[in-house]
Amino acid sequence: MIIDSHEHVILPAESQLEKLKRASVDKAVLFYTTPHPEKAKNYGEWKEEMAKLFRILSGESTEKSNSERIHRGNQELLRSIRAFPEHFTGFGGVPLGLGLTETGSWIEEEILGNGLRGIGEYTPGSEEQIRQLETVFQALQDLPELPVWVHCFHPVTSSGLKILIELHRKYPSVPLIFGHSGGWNWQMLLEYAKSAKKAYIDTSASFSSLVLKMLLSELPERCLFSSDAPYGEPLLCRQGIEFASPEKWIAERVLGENIRELLSL
Ligand SMILES: [Zn+2]
Repeated sequence: MIIDSHEHVILPAESQLEKLKRASVDKAVLFYTTPHPEKAKNYGEWKEEMAKLFRILSGESTEKSNSERIHRGNQELLRSIRAFPEHFTGFGGVPLGLGLTETGSWIEEEILGNGLRGIGEYTPGSEEQIRQLETVFQALQDLPELPVWVHCFHPVTSSGLKILIELHRKYPSVPLIFGHSGGWNWQMLLEYAKSAKKAYIDTSASFSSLVLKMLLSELPERCLFSSDAPYGEPLLCRQGIEFASPEKWIAERVLGENIRELLSL
C-alpha cells in the first residue's frame, strides 16, 4: 500500500483525492491547515493567503483565538476524512501554551475522541514555541501512543532543531516525526535519528536528490514518503523516492510500510 504520510487538507476533498489517484497513492495522512494556498490563482493571492500563516508564526494571536482556529481546522480535517475514510486518515492540532491537564483533555477529546492518529503539524516560529512542546510530550506519557509531527525547515534554525532533539532525548518513548528532513540541518537530524528508535524523518521538501538518497540509504526503516501537498505534488514526490532509493525494498518501506506500521493502518 502506498501512503502519503503528510498532506494538508485541500478543498474540495474531491480534488485532493484526484491528486492521490494521479499519483497511484492509496491513502494519505491529512493534517489540519490554516492557509489554503491551493485556492490562489496567482502570486498576489498566494501572498495574501500565506500572510495568515506568518501572522500566526509571529505569535500575534491570543491563546483563545489560537485554540478556536485549531479547533476549526480539526473540524475541517474531519469532514474530509469522513467523506473518504478509505483514502484519508489524519493528525489533528493541539494548541501550545495550555496547561498540562488542559493539553491532556484536548488530546483525549479532539485527537483520540475523533479517531485521529497523531498530533501536528507544529510550525514553531520561535525557540520558545519549541520548548512549549514539552507539555505535549508530558501529556502523552499517560495516553495511548501518538506520534507528534514538527516542521523542521525554516524558520526552525539549527539551534531550534537542537532544542527539539534534546526534548526528544528526554521523552524518547514519544514517536517524533521531524518534518521536511530537517531542512539545511539534515545531517544533524540524520545522526540523531539513527540513534533514537522513535525518531522518524519526513522526506517532503528535502532540498536535493542527493540528500534524499543519503537519508534513504542510512535510515530506510524510519524515513517516510510525503508530499506536504499542496506545497508539493504527490506524483513527483513518489517518483523522487523511487529515483533516490538504492534498492527496491527501501522504496517499498518508505512509500508505505513504515507509516503503516507506525500508525497501525
Ligand atoms: Zn511544514
